[in-house]
Amino acid sequence: MPRVAAAALLWVALAGCATSPTGRNQLILLPDSQMDALGAQSFTELKRAQPTSNDPALNRYVQCIARPLLAVSGSSIPADRWEIVVFNDESANAFALPGGKIGVHTGILKVAETPDQLAAVIGHEIGHVIARHGNERVSETLVTQGGLAVLGEVMKSRGGRQEIFAALGLGVQFGILLPHSRTQESEADRIGLEMMARAGFDPAESIQLWKNMSRNGGSQPPEFLSTHPSHSSRIADLSADQSRVRPLYLSAREQGRVPQCKRP
Ligand SMILES: [Zn+2]
Repeated sequence: MPRVAAAALLWVALAGCATSPTGRNQLILLPDSQMDALGAQSFTELKRAQPTSNDPALNRYVQCIARPLLAVSGSSIPADRWEIVVFNDESANAFALPGGKIGVHTGILKVAETPDQLAAVIGHEIGHVIARHGNERVSETLVTQGGLAVLGEVMKSRGGRQEIFAALGLGVQFGILLPHSRTQESEADRIGLEMMARAGFDPAESIQLWKNMSRNGGSQPPEFLSTHPSHSSRIADLSADQSRVRPLYLSAREQGRVPQCKRP
């Protein structure tokens, strides 16, 4: 085996192994700082491409829900440093990006009808970031495309940038249909559920959220596609996970973590 390839493989073996918050083995090749920069850059482009909402009540409402979730998320970025933007977009979508960015479409409010349900959506999205799912997907793409030698080229090329957007879960905004994997979706559900419980939002409302999502039917963007995983298996998993997070919710409420977010 050529020495360079052997060295690259060894580096993948040593540097690439990470463990997700739920204890799953992950391939993580990029420095977090690089993912943060990519997330911030993508967010800037999105804000340029799509109209944002200046409605003060709506922005207050979304912030009121997102900040307590961020405070218990374990993110290395402080809760008040995250940038949270409401996009005037009728599709029922939301996303979070490395580098401390959250986007919420106005259309998600048709599906997330209560503060606790919106907390389930945003908690899920923060869960993707906390578990470094974007990095994992870029890393897997790099390996399947021939290894680390192509990293520089992938970052520079237009096609590569699209893949990175897709890996960040921004496929729909850039016209690429590439949802998160089923494993990542389930993991984001688990992390989000625990996050909402610790922040004092009722985790049981996540079940109603996905029922609403199911009712909303075919108009879902890739992030919430019914096949990743199916709504019924998702609802079953979330129901089974309630006993784990219920005590966290009750103790958060006892400790005075009772978010008062008024839906406009
Ligand atoms: Zn997701």
